[in-house]
Amino acid sequence: MRGKVTAEDSAAAWKGVADRFPALRRTVNAHRLVYLDTAATAQKPDAVISAEKSYYEESNANVHRGIHTLAEEATAAYENCRKRAGELVGAPSPSSVVITRNATAALNMVARGLEHTLREGDEILLTEMEHHANLVPWIMLARRTGVVLKHIPITDGGLLDLGKLPELIGPRTRLVSLVHVSNVLGTINPVAEVAEAAHRAGALVVVDAAQGVGHMPVAMEELGADVLVYSAHKCYGPMGLGFLVAQPGLLEEMEPMEGGGEMINEVFLDRATWAEPPHKFEAGTPNVAAAAAFPPALDLLESLGLDAVRRHEEELVAHALQTLATLDGLVVYGPHDPKLRGGLVAFHDPEVHPHDMATLLDQAGVAVRAGHHCAQPLHRRLGVVATTRASFGIYSTKDDIDALAEGIRFARRYFSP
Ligand code: PMP
Repeated sequence: MRGKVTAEDSAAAWKGVADRFPALRRTVNAHRLVYLDTAATAQKPDAVISAEKSYYEESNANVHRGIHTLAEEATAAYENCRKRAGELVGAPSPSSVVITRNATAALNMVARGLEHTLREGDEILLTEMEHHANLVPWIMLARRTGVVLKHIPITDGGLLDLGKLPELIGPRTRLVSLVHVSNVLGTINPVAEVAEAAHRAGALVVVDAAQGVGHMPVAMEELGADVLVYSAHKCYGPMGLGFLVAQPGLLEEMEPMEGGGEMINEVFLDRATWAEPPHKFEAGTPNVAAAAAFPPALDLLESLGLDAVRRHEEELVAHALQTLATLDGLVVYGPHDPKLRGGLVAFHDPEVHPHDMATLLDQAGVAVRAGHHCAQPLHRRLGVVATTRASFGIYSTKDDIDALAEGIRFARRYFSP
């Protein structure tokens, strides 16, 4: 992140922050929209929407390909995004940032890219609370290579069971890939502690920071991440844009997953050489409009201050935990200490199926997500097929959470015999 904001500037930026999000002005089913699905995707501030529009209106061109003014402007916007996206997470340099489609694409790229360094019987350590994006690419890799997948279990309190680490990390552990903030439990994992154990064993550390970045300060060095991935759309930026950030040397070691234009140095009919990283991972025309529209989201986060964003979400989680605890029988997953959680709460009502819950909440204008949230193994561990999840952002308020609780009471009445 760039320069710190003063407390006064931050306070001024917070005033009316929700007004900057046009979608929040609409109504749903004749109610004010209460958007509690930021963990799926954050709403976009007007500055992001207008930046994407003005990119197409003013400088639409392909990047790195032309020497005309529009192409130069497009390239500058694209490279500025790389720089800003890296600064947000303390990337060593802009060239350590690969621009991808999303966090999922970035994780696939890492698995494919490191495949040639892995042998049958090598071990990859994941956790029981991973999103499918950090499970399936490794499952596919294991099918191709015979690599063995292991998982750090979770405690009943929704924390990683670090007591199991010594038996899970051994001489054959080549890589540990884990989620920074769980998209279901909300748990903020002690990534640095896991990374230290992984590094002691000579393993690489990959961090899925999709739910942390944009919601709290994140520094890959402090986390001990060799690779960190995230998506722009979860931090108030546009869809179709994600990042793979790597420590020096790693991108050189990784093989590109896709071949084509932009990623080459020289091409002959029967062979080719790759461009230097990060370009060797960016085959074809990228989403330049999205790249042009991400920096305004970062400007907004910077003006609010990421420490203040974190405090805001922690207060909301504390309020949500307190409020949901007043609803008899409702099971809330994850740690009960708001300090250990990101800005989301998943819960289960034994009387109301999560899909019914989400449908009835929608009747009241409250947008939540119901299902397995791309974490089926975690739900199996929790003993439920689905949960309802409410997740918060910079525009969320305690009133939104009160509306959620009121909606849950309404759903309970609706289903009570
Ligand atoms: N990891 C986590 C923890 C997530 O919550 C998500 C998004 N639900 C992803 C990875 C994948 O992000 P994307 O869909 O933007 O690739």
